[in-house]
Amino acid sequence: AKARGRNGFSFYAPSMTGEGVERLRLETFLRRSIEKEEIFLNYQPQVEIDTGRLVGVEALVRWNHPELGLIPPIRFIPLAEDTGFINQLGKWVLHEACRQMVRWQEAGLHVPKIAVNLSAKQFERGSIVNMVADILHDTGLEPERLQLEVTESVIMNTGDAMVFINDLHSIGVALAIDDFGTGYSSLAYLKQLPVQTLKIDRSFIKDISTDVNDEAIAIAIIQLGKSMNLSVIAEGVETEEQAAFLLRHGCNLAQGYFYSRPLAADDMLSRWQK
Ligand code: C2E
Ligand code: CA
Ligand code: CA
Ligand code: CA
Repeated sequence: AKARGRNGFSFYAPSMTGEGVERLRLETFLRRSIEKEEIFLNYQPQVEIDTGRLVGVEALVRWNHPELGLIPPIRFIPLAEDTGFINQLGKWVLHEACRQMVRWQEAGLHVPKIAVNLSAKQFERGSIVNMVADILHDTGLEPERLQLEVTESVIMNTGDAMVFINDLHSIGVALAIDDFGTGYSSLAYLKQLPVQTLKIDRSFIKDISTDVNDEAIAIAIIQLGKSMNLSVIAEGVETEEQAAFLLRHGCNLAQGYFYSRPLAADDMLSRWQK
């Protein structure tokens, strides 16, 4: 056997645990994922509860790696944020989402609006407003039909987020607060920001008919939205009971498996073109 150093070190860095290696591998793959055309979008319908009418879709990114298979966004979005790749990825997602709206339109499906998630790191770049404006110009999508989703933590923890959000509003883009009620936040930003929509987080919807606290929170968010003239949409609606509860309490917009799982672009056509 080869002699080991006094501290027992061997030839490999001892910090390279299995997990570290795995992460590095994923990172390397991720960096090439766009050019290799492994990234694509799914679209989850947003509907009016009382009529079942389609009011929009949320674009959700997917990564299908030839060896690793389908990797969920909770595994690669944080990695993309840590490595800075999120800027490239976020731009691709936004471009593809806007392009898809035009393709559906040409194929005879009118989707009123598309929601796209933004991560905090994309605001740190500074040039987000120009990027969005360029993409809208390039694709010809009307700004009013694009809604950007940001979480409360993006707003609270990003230095210039307020400025960028006002700029985005000035070019006509709509804004939704994602996962509303789950972050640390003061509600004061709501009256300062040009927000149109609150999304009630799935965690409050899940046990809505059995947990009195979740019920109280959901009702409070609906009331807050109403009194501030904002539209409120519930996410993660999985049952008819949840939908009925929401409607009864004045929330007429929902997104969730009860209505539809996220769909491939073509399946949107076959499912919603009537
Ligand atoms: P999110 O923005 O809160 O998106 C909603 C998530 O809930 C999606 O998971 C969706 O598939 C899932 N979902 C929808 N309806 C139901 C339901 O009825 N029941 C259950 N159990 N789940 C439901 P997904 O697609 O895995 O995305 C997870 C998260 O990854 C998103 O949470 C968002 O934070 C992030 N993400 C996804 N796409 C993007 C993107 O393009 N950019 C950025 N920055 N983040 C993204
Ligand atoms: Ca979202
Ligand atoms: Ca959400
Ligand atoms: Ca959520």
